[in-house]
Amino acid sequence: MAFLTLLARNRLALAGGVLMSVVVLLAVLTPVLPLADPDVTNTSNRFQPILSEGALLGTDHLGRDLLSRLMWGTRLSLAVGFAAAIVAATLGAAIGIIAGFYGGRTDNIIMRGVDMLMAFPYILLALAIVAALGPGLFNALIAVAAVNVPFFARNIRGITVGIAHKEFVDAARLAGLSNTRIILSEILPNVIPVIVIAMSTTIGWMILETAGLSFLGLGSQPPQADLGSMLGEARSALITNPHTSIVPGVMILIIVMSINLLGDGVRDALDPRLKSGALSRPMATTQVDRKGPVPEPTGKGLLEVQGLETQFHVKDRVYRAVGGVDLHVEKGECLGIIGESGSGKSVTALSLMGLVASPPGVITGGAVHYDGKDLIGAPYRQLRDMRGRNVAYIFQDPLATLHPLYRVGDQLIEAIRSHRPIGKAEGRAKAVELLRAVRIPNSEQRVTDYPHEMSGGMRQRVGIAMALANDPDIIIADEPTTALDVTVQAQVLTILDDLRRSRGLAIVFITHDFGVVAQLCDRVAVMYAGRIVEEGSTKDILHAPRHPYTARLMACVPELGGGKRRLEAIAGLPPVVDKLPEGCAFADRCLKVQPECRRGEIPLDWQGDRKVRCLYPEQGTREAAE
Ligand code: ADP
Ligand code: MG
Repeated sequence: MAFLTLLARNRLALAGGVLMSVVVLLAVLTPVLPLADPDVTNTSNRFQPILSEGALLGTDHLGRDLLSRLMWGTRLSLAVGFAAAIVAATLGAAIGIIAGFYGGRTDNIIMRGVDMLMAFPYILLALAIVAALGPGLFNALIAVAAVNVPFFARNIRGITVGIAHKEFVDAARLAGLSNTRIILSEILPNVIPVIVIAMSTTIGWMILETAGLSFLGLGSQPPQADLGSMLGEARSALITNPHTSIVPGVMILIIVMSINLLGDGVRDALDPRLKSGALSRPMATTQVDRKGPVPEPTGKGLLEVQGLETQFHVKDRVYRAVGGVDLHVEKGECLGIIGESGSGKSVTALSLMGLVASPPGVITGGAVHYDGKDLIGAPYRQLRDMRGRNVAYIFQDPLATLHPLYRVGDQLIEAIRSHRPIGKAEGRAKAVELLRAVRIPNSEQRVTDYPHEMSGGMRQRVGIAMALANDPDIIIADEPTTALDVTVQAQVLTILDDLRRSRGLAIVFITHDFGVVAQLCDRVAVMYAGRIVEEGSTKDILHAPRHPYTARLMACVPELGGGKRRLEAIAGLPPVVDKLPEGCAFADRCLKVQPECRRGEIPLDWQGDRKVRCLYPEQGTREAAE
């Protein structure tokens, strides 16, 4: 159903689909329509023009009714085209799956055969096949199907190879499933969308190829009409009676165009990557479209974020991932940003340096001041110059951020070189020094390692080293320890803490774990549904959370040696950011919700030692609550 709505939202595909349905419907109904016999000749009535009496579309060189021939011809052409596509897709997919699944010699033999077929110009190949089998529509079908098999086989083999080594296939094998069962129940469902996509984009092509063969007289034989043979017969009268060519020509145009439009729509709707726009090339910096006034800097902190708003514009929906965030971080300070998954932490962090992918990301408001300059909307050159040198990032998954084919040392040197030229020896020395700074043992030997030769913790330390490469003032660490186990996490946190003290680094540390915040951060901002709901010093907030969300978030953290205590999961889910409720976004999950909470804007106000966005904040301390 979701597929159909997606398809219907694509206007062109919808138009193609409607047109195609009309053509198919007419073709199916042809035998019951009151049409003249398509094969009855009447030479006294040759070349009647369009709209002549008794022949709506005129007659051809033998006086046959063109409308009737067109309908029967369309029926035949469609049938042959679809049949060829189905045969080619089935055979090609079977070959591709077998080659991809069994691999090794089977794959080699099959694919070399396919390569040989592909080496021929396919029209020549089709001609050769028809020549060998003899002319006729059925043989044309075989020829068209045969020349398209390699295309499907290649495509499907590639996909199958990728799937055949996935863990769920191994699991099926361990469960004792036979190869046939694995192919049918594990592989096939994963390749079917690809088959459908490949088919929907090639059917039009196959109809054209069949028409081409018929045009050359190798397909349908007289008096039987198909679109190609109608064109072929009309060729000699092209100048004197163009309507005999135009009628089948327009029909071919309509069919192929509507199939292609529909096929593109099917592909877009089936391929989630195309749907989200991830395959379109992102712009170098996030698109900026600020409607309101740009806030003036107040000179607070090294980096000051004011009213930052970042949205994702996907089709006609607007996701307000970040809805007006104010932050600042001082030199040598560690600011924690905490919140559930999806609360907008990463998008906030990426917006600072214009790293949110556009499309679909758009920064719609606010300012980010660094050193007196507003970074939002700054020219790409300026941002590029600052990325890594002034503000550096550490991401969650170090395996994904390190290039698998380069040695870690070379990647460190590259990070430096993108900002200043550095010689070979100096670069190496600097790389070793960086690895030592993040306490990688044997750093002289380790610089020549590839990422896969390191453990997860070491890779994350390389990630930190990379962020340090250009001596930045600010490091933004986006859940850098989430993928690590606790002991390694503790080491990484210690390294960051030391670096902050020894180099005066400012750190913005993003996490969903209050335990980590307690260890590292001076100040913490709690985010929910794209906004900050509470901000204050870590000590104060840990001691007495004021916003119910903060309190609930803390209650989710188990405490070692804290005795037995019920761990409270927060019921419900965060709101979807394209349909934010009015008033407090947390209202639906809050135990203390009042009617006023659902009305109007609730401001982030100073309440004693911190800022809270809540009308009825918690009062007691945490210890008292337990
Ligand atoms: P987190 O706090 O876990 O880091 P994110 O900042 O990654 O959360 O995401 C914030 C919100 O933005 C989420 O609701 C997410 O669904 C939405 N979002 C992120 N990227 C996109 C995108 N490319 N298109 C649409 N929505 C997105
Ligand atoms: Mg995130």
